Amino acid sequence: MLDWHAPAAWQEIRGEVRFHEPLRAHTSFRLGGPADVLALPRDTGDLQNVLALVRQEQIPLYVLGRGTNLLVGDSGFRGLVVSLKEGFREVEILQEEGDHCQLRCGAGVRLASLIGYSLREGLSGLEFAVGIPGSVGGAVVMNAGLKKQTIGQLVDWVLLMDRQGRVSRIERAKLCFAYRCCHLPPGSIVLSVALALRRCTPPDVQRKTRAFFLQKRSVQPVTAWSAGCIFKNPSQDTAGRLIESVGLKGYRLGGSRVSEMHANFIVNEGQATARDVLELISLIQKKVYLVKGIWLEREVETLLEEG
Ligand SMILES: Cc1cc2nc3c(=O)[nH]c(=O)nc-3n(C[C@H](O)[C@H](O)[C@H](O)COP(=O)(O)OP(=O)(O)OC[C@H]3O[C@@H](n4cnc5c(N)ncnc54)[C@H](O)[C@@H]3O)c2cc1C
Repeated sequence: MLDWHAPAAWQEIRGEVRFHEPLRAHTSFRLGGPADVLALPRDTGDLQNVLALVRQEQIPLYVLGRGTNLLVGDSGFRGLVVSLKEGFREVEILQEEGDHCQLRCGAGVRLASLIGYSLREGLSGLEFAVGIPGSVGGAVVMNAGLKKQTIGQLVDWVLLMDRQGRVSRIERAKLCFAYRCCHLPPGSIVLSVALALRRCTPPDVQRKTRAFFLQKRSVQPVTAWSAGCIFKNPSQDTAGRLIESVGLKGYRLGGSRVSEMHANFIVNEGQATARDVLELISLIQKKVYLVKGIWLEREVETLLEEG
């Protein structure tokens, strides 16, 4: 049997392959243990080769975006993490008609880069997403955005690869975007996405983007080590208000802390472990339930060996 922990097994892969890679370096929480293997395929063919080996050797697989909505366990991941951030970075205008402009972006493109592109080109639609630090692929999977504006509203179609390496295009209607989720066939990897934007003038786009940015910076700890909002907002109230109302704003557990600025953010103060964060999440859920009768559902995704 092939030893997939060894470099020889990955010779066919043209992109970078790293072994025993600390995942803390790939998440905005800056915590979590190592992955056995991290592969950064260069293109579709390279990704198909990675998946062929995954199938052949039955390697557990996790698809990572920019790790900005992710809590990785302290023991890391026994398997392969694949990230599209080194390839899959193309941005191109597919078609324009009147002021409508359809853009295709690779899943590995940083949202911030895409917003930079829209600012330069004078393309309107993505202004609300300024300050959301993930990749385009992660943003589609999470239907990232604000209360009333999300990336799903702009998606025309997505290009997916299944675990057999087959590529297919799924139209927006079938994606059923909802609050922080969308419907993708299980195991799909988002390769690229077509977004419907509107031609505008660069100063107009800049003005709107700046307003969203200032608003975000005034309410969220955007430079702290965190994974953004930890919980989804329940229908009755915001998670942040509920956490604050039960007296947990600023509460510290080990190296993790409920942000003083926004109680729905947990920040890593430098030495936090995933265990600290998980315990803090559980404590918040229990206290909010006891006092308010509302069970907060996690928004942050987890990659935990412990299950
Ligand atoms: C400071 C800060 C502010 C934030 N503000 C917001 C906000 O205002 N609104 C908001 O919605 N979110 C916010 N977030 C959360 C986060 O940035 C978003 O959820 C983002 O879309 C996650 O993208 P990512 O690439 O980091 O995905 P990851 O965290 O890497 O992954 C998220 C999920 O997507 C899956 N995934 C990623 N890429 C792919 C792919 N190509 N194919 C298939 N599956 C994939 C992963 O397996 C995982 O399940 C914030 C986070 C931080 C740290």
